[in-house]
Amino acid sequence: MKFTQLRLSGFKSFVEPTELLIKDGLTGIVGPNGCGKSNLVEALRWVMGETSAKNMRGGAMDDVIFAGTTSRPPRNMAEVTLSLDNHKREAPPAYNDLAELDITRRIRRDTGSDYRIGGKVTRARDVQLLFADLATGAHSTAIVSQGRVGSLINAKPKDRRHLLEEAAGISGLHSRRHEAELRLKNAEINLERVDDVTGQLE
Ligand code: ATP
Repeated sequence: MKFTQLRLSGFKSFVEPTELLIKDGLTGIVGPNGCGKSNLVEALRWVMGETSAKNMRGGAMDDVIFAGTTSRPPRNMAEVTLSLDNHKREAPPAYNDLAELDITRRIRRDTGSDYRIGGKVTRARDVQLLFADLATGAHSTAIVSQGRVGSLINAKPKDRRHLLEEAAGISGLHSRRHEAELRLKNAEINLERVDDVTGQLE
């Protein structure tokens, strides 16, 4: 699925509402050092559900909110929206009534992030799974940050396997399997309790 637009407001250096249109072909972002090129890539990663403040080059997640300058006060909220072209209905069936899918993440100081898909409030997990099923996401190998190539060359085979799983679009299945295993374990514990109770009654 194609990304068609990135909208930011109050996110890092993008204090004013900013729209980046991603048209057919190659999109290049050029500008002097410190103008915010990496911040745009981080916005992309953040809206897809990044949970590590360190990966956003911050100490805490609300460091992504515009921190103010000598001439502008800081903001209390940051918001990023990524639009996906869904006219071929490539999104998971739950979202197939929408020809364009907007995924929004908003953060307020001290209250954390909330997410919306197609305007409906959703869990971070649903956003992460949506992108995992589309073989992308905050940790996608399609997003290559500085130093990443070197670290992959030195990575262990197990870590490299994640690349192949992500490319095959099956990384979402691993987290679903993990959730299912936890539910199964809980069910087994409950069954043992039921056995204990019925044993005492007999
Ligand atoms: P380079 O070409 O050197 O890699 P770049 O264009 O990628 O630079 P970024 O690293 O994206 O630039 O942007 C850095 C700028 O973003 C700095 O000026 C920094 O002060 C600003 N910045 C980062 N976080 C915030 C924030 N929370 N509030 C305000 N400004 C911020």
